Amino acid sequence: MDAATVGDNLGRVRDQIVAAGGDPERVQILAVTKGFGPEAPTAALGAGLSDLGENYAQELADKAPAVDGDPSWHFIGRLQSNKVKLVADLVSVWQSVDRSSLVDEITKRAPGARILVQVNATGESQKGGCAVPDVPDLVARATEGGLTVEGLMTVGVDGDDDATALAFERVAGLVADLGLREASMGMTADLALAVRAGSTQVRVGRALFGARPERRR
Ligand SMILES: *Cc1c(COP(=O)(O)O)cnc(C)c1O
Repeated sequence: MDAATVGDNLGRVRDQIVAAGGDPERVQILAVTKGFGPEAPTAALGAGLSDLGENYAQELADKAPAVDGDPSWHFIGRLQSNKVKLVADLVSVWQSVDRSSLVDEITKRAPGARILVQVNATGESQKGGCAVPDVPDLVARATEGGLTVEGLMTVGVDGDDDATALAFERVAGLVADLGLREASMGMTADLALAVRAGSTQVRVGRALFGARPERRR
């Protein structure tokens, strides 16, 4: 994996954004490097991408020091409150904030941090995210604690385009209703649906770096 390959792939992702009606200047691309070694973030930086996403606290803590460069790390995975401390000095944007205990822990460990509230807009019980009716209160709690709530993040339904499109439209509507700025929606498989629904940030892993290695435990 090298910067030139990631750069070629990035060009294709930008083409997809344009084909879906998005403005490539306005739709930010977050490069998701989970599952890859430090060569992926290093290659992404070399291709001009500076916002990188990781899902696991320990993996981020291990990987970040080995990366050549200084990216903005976005935390996008399920996060246990007791792991916040481990990555508090690394994370620029906490995108998977979905409950008040996590808001309180981030308020304590990373005062004033930038966050997105993750919304479960599909009703799948196994999925992370705050239920839609609870979003305004969680946003208010974070704001009162001094955090900067930049927007909302959501994940579509695997293999169901109709449900995914509905969820994206719903979350984009919530972002507007709450007067927020960012709608972090769309990954490799559903990027076009997300852009059509008004995504301001797509989180892309495989389209940039290829298939992810199996996760070892
Ligand atoms: C893994 C992951 C992505 C990227 O998925 P790809 O299919 O590799 O593009 C985006 N968002 C979240 C929350 C993820 O867990």
